Amino acid sequence: MNDLIAPYEAVMARIAAAARRANRSPSDITLVAVTKTHGAETVRDAVDAGMTLFGENKVQEAAWKIPLSPSCARWQLIGHLQTNKARHAVRLFETIHSVDSIRLFDALEAAARQAGTRPEIYLEVNVSGEPSKYGLSPEALPEVVDHVLTNGQALTLTGLMTMAPFNPDSEAARPHFARLRRLRDSLQERFAVDLPHLSMGMSGDFEVAIEEGATDVRVGTALFGARPKATRPQADADTTSGML
Ligand SMILES: *Cc1c(COP(=O)(O)O)cnc(C)c1O
Repeated sequence: MNDLIAPYEAVMARIAAAARRANRSPSDITLVAVTKTHGAETVRDAVDAGMTLFGENKVQEAAWKIPLSPSCARWQLIGHLQTNKARHAVRLFETIHSVDSIRLFDALEAAARQAGTRPEIYLEVNVSGEPSKYGLSPEALPEVVDHVLTNGQALTLTGLMTMAPFNPDSEAARPHFARLRRLRDSLQERFAVDLPHLSMGMSGDFEVAIEEGATDVRVGTALFGARPKATRPQADADTTSGML
């Protein structure tokens, strides 16, 4: 008996219901199953239950987990990345949600050219302005988008990502998600570029995110249960900060 079938079906049903409320097709929303802190046996069960796309927030954790996991699993980086790990990141991940500086972009672009890989990237935006959060300020976005569009050969910019501030009331996240969508819309217009992906929404707020236009929801706890406290990121600079 695979314990992940029921939570997976429940999350997919909630995704579909939220999509219908927003007059969207459920097939336009991609579930990124966040397996950080869980082992490869969890990934195997998740694949057996029907999940295919997995999110990790640390390069070094993904580096041991991916080779032990089914080869059909696809991997995306959702957490903060240090430039000195760019080399590994472009080999491990098909998409990197957390590009948050020109310096990191340049390191990833050089690394991907060298590795011969072509990852997609999203720019992470700190919409709420919380000082504890990673991400570009909305004001900094145009300059970074300009740089990325001018210099991206191996890397393709296809979207934006954000994390809403922690709040037990998911409605509190709505204005932040709406703002990311508006930022995306204005960048598309200003740069005449297609940015189809909006990576927003986690276990506590993915339905609100879908109502506000999310295409990629990053869900861990609702699928795999609570994570052990010891692996939370305060003690480790190479993870996301904020609402974990
Ligand atoms: C851990 C994490 C998630 C998933 O969080 P849950 O609340 O467990 O669903 C989503 N996005 C990022 C960036 C994360 O680090």
